[in-house]
Amino acid sequence: MAPSEGLRQMSKFYRNPTTILLENGAFPKIADWVHLVGAKKILLVLGGKFFKGSSYFGVLKEALRGLDWQVSTPVSENPKISFVREFSEKFRGASFDCVIGIGGGSAIDTAKMAAVILAGDAATLDDYIVSKKAFKKRLPLAAVPTTAGTGSEVTPYVSLSTQDRKKITVTDPQLFPDLALLDPLLTHTMPAPVSASTGMDALSQAIESFWSVHHTGLSDTHALRAVSLVTRHLETVVAKPGDAQARFAMALGSCESGLAIAQTATTAVHSVSYPITEHFGVPHGHACALTLAEFIRFNEPSMQDSRYDSLWKAMGVSSAFGAAEFVEGLMGKIGLERRLSKLGIDRKGMGVVLQNGFRPDRVKNNPRELTTEALKSM
Ligand code: NAD
Repeated sequence: MAPSEGLRQMSKFYRNPTTILLENGAFPKIADWVHLVGAKKILLVLGGKFFKGSSYFGVLKEALRGLDWQVSTPVSENPKISFVREFSEKFRGASFDCVIGIGGGSAIDTAKMAAVILAGDAATLDDYIVSKKAFKKRLPLAAVPTTAGTGSEVTPYVSLSTQDRKKITVTDPQLFPDLALLDPLLTHTMPAPVSASTGMDALSQAIESFWSVHHTGLSDTHALRAVSLVTRHLETVVAKPGDAQARFAMALGSCESGLAIAQTATTAVHSVSYPITEHFGVPHGHACALTLAEFIRFNEPSMQDSRYDSLWKAMGVSSAFGAAEFVEGLMGKIGLERRLSKLGIDRKGMGVVLQNGFRPDRVKNNPRELTTEALKSM
């Protein structure tokens, strides 16, 4: 049985083995975890250039003083399979004892894959993603998110881009990190567009988890808290990047959206977002936000159950149509463009999105059946 099917079946239950530490100023405690797992040699997987240029790199060096650590090649946004393949092979044989991913979802996903590949059983990335080899072991793994976000620090997924601009998701329980260390202070440096886009990813994930055909009572609890936190605080972090209370709420909301999708996976909104990112370079969360309101309207006939009242309440509205309007209004307030033409997606581009936006594993999670015709009319 493919791991993803196994995981789907298990979603009737609640499974999350990741230990979560969420505290302002918690970052240096990463050293306690390193000592706890007895690691002597550490691979640090860092996203972009921002982290090495921040004062937190100094804090990290101080925390890891006396230990043998190595910094990876910086991870670019939406990592490609080819990048992760080269990345992992470069460090093969270096005998690391643990991996720490610090950054947004791109760095954390790369760290997850590296922790599996560097665990020492000679398997390559292609063994896992092409031959679907079962994951046997991985190195101890900690994830430190600096966006809020993807929630990748608490999910069993890795998202990778293919050479032909498709997005694949690797799913396996081994991809749950051992530790998710959330220090909201690390997210204060996000520029407004990154805060806006990544925040909309968290909102979209939470709403999609709630309406997913795989939702459970427990996943709903996380999804509702995530919706409530993100809808109340996203505008503030975009306008006031140093607002500690709002940043804390966003870090928690993002983590709860990850806890929710770890049980349910995402749905059609994410499926359609992938070609928008891969072919037109729209950041992941912004790409999700583009169709979220329309999907709320589309799914409305399948959201008549009274449990949806709690979703509308968490958003501060009273109906699906109110929720769709709320999402559009929020995008305007946080400066996310809604017009596809302004994002370089013309009529021909729409064809590309339609052609590549149907990922069956996600579309089938949608509460209302989605056809190409329905998507076209949207
Ligand atoms: P990202 O990791 O690509 O980062 C976006 C940009 O923000 C980068 O340039 C990064 O360097 C910068 N950045 C990050 N933190 C910063 C900070 N504190 N200050 C300044 N700059 C900062 O963006 P993301 O949205 O976090 O991750 C997107 C990736 O995660 C995609 O590949 C997506 O498919 C994947 N994803 C994975 C999961 C999962 O469960 N594994 C879930 C959702 C999304």
